[in-house]
Amino acid sequence: MSNNKYKILVIEDEANICNLLETSLTTNGFQVVSVGTCRDAITMTLSYVPDLVILDLGLPDRDGLEYIKEIRRSDATPILVVSARSDENDKVLALDLGANDYITKPFGNAELLARVRAALRNRRSSEIESVLDGKFHLHDMEIDYARRMVYIAGEEIRLTRTEYNILEILSQNPGKVLTYAAIIRKIWGPTDDGGVKKLQVNLANIRKKLGSKPGDNKYIINELGVGYRISEE
Ligand code: CA
Repeated sequence: MSNNKYKILVIEDEANICNLLETSLTTNGFQVVSVGTCRDAITMTLSYVPDLVILDLGLPDRDGLEYIKEIRRSDATPILVVSARSDENDKVLALDLGANDYITKPFGNAELLARVRAALRNRRSSEIESVLDGKFHLHDMEIDYARRMVYIAGEEIRLTRTEYNILEILSQNPGKVLTYAAIIRKIWGPTDDGGVKKLQVNLANIRKKLGSKPGDNKYIINELGVGYRISEE
């Protein structure tokens, strides 16, 4: 009966939060296993083979970041990090180590489920869709990867090389926040100075050219102090 359910591994040592997550996810049709230590998490990831991992960074035996480092050597299972509001640096580190997304405590049920579904959906679509027709679609925007062209409602948008490269990287990582450092490394290499400022200027230009007004998150979402992600709806 539960054969077709997505399997989620919850790694969280606080019983209250763990129960909340389990109840919410189970009620919504997911199959859930939970563990409270990093050591158990690594064992369970290998034996349970989850479709998604929800990870609290503050674990009693080892740091949750250690888990990401360990797992990412050989495994691409989406990891959704649960973090406290004050852990900005940890969020960035987690994303740079290969976490897909994060959700900040305290979070609501709807937000949790939206993030979970997005991570699961994009895990499949990123593997399949872009390979099939070499194009990316979001609202009225189309990116043609082979021709390196971008269209809004059929109209060509003229981006610089750098602007196009940034948009391409974001579009190829749906459901994932890309940190400033990760984008900068890919665009300008590892040793560039003043990269964040340059990136922000480029992003502002991209958004202007795509016709987004300030504060408008139609195509690209600005995760303040962390990075950027491509919008999902
Ligand atoms: Ca904890």
